[in-house]
Amino acid sequence: MASGNNIGYYGPYDQLLLSRGGEGSVYYSGCEAGTQALGIEADGKIKGCPSLPSGPYTGANIRDMSLADIMAHTEPLPMNKVLRYSEESIAHLWGFCGTCEFKKMCRGGCTWTAHVFYGKRGNNPYCHHRALEHDRQGLRERMIRTDAAPGAPFDHGIFESVIEAKDAPSPAVSWLDRGDHALAIAVRDGGAPYAPPASTTP
Ligand code: SF4
Repeated sequence: MASGNNIGYYGPYDQLLLSRGGEGSVYYSGCEAGTQALGIEADGKIKGCPSLPSGPYTGANIRDMSLADIMAHTEPLPMNKVLRYSEESIAHLWGFCGTCEFKKMCRGGCTWTAHVFYGKRGNNPYCHHRALEHDRQGLRERMIRTDAAPGAPFDHGIFESVIEAKDAPSPAVSWLDRGDHALAIAVRDGGAPYAPPASTTP
């Protein structure tokens, strides 16, 4: 099993999460979209990574331009071609990532993960180091969806972070609409795991 680029980063489990069973020291070194990776959508759109949302991350369509020209002349494919550890390389960071001690190595973690929560890159709520730091302070971070995804390919909703005491009561049951179905995403007040009615089970 190989973990994805969006699990991390640093802290006591970096080696376990990223080594893929190999030996030696391993640590995360930033999003590689457009440098070590490329994505192509079914209609020919070229992005820095297959997962990225289409609108803000498409350089051009391979039907209209050569790959070399797309790589050289279209934004935002060069977004990760920055001098490592420079101020330019972290100019896009904000929120917790903007204050992080690892920010010049990490550059905010996985671009896709940040963007599909907040609508822009540079702040990654699924960072392991961040979760441990919150835990050390007696806190936890919970994501609340404020806008649903429109339903287009590679789209996403918008979420907000709630920072709260880690022993705060569990949130009320909330639901994600999924067409005719709904998916329970939380349990109420620390009780038994909530079982959705059979008629709404995806
Ligand atoms: S808080 Fe942000 S910059 Fe720091 S390690 Fe986590 S993802 Fe990287």
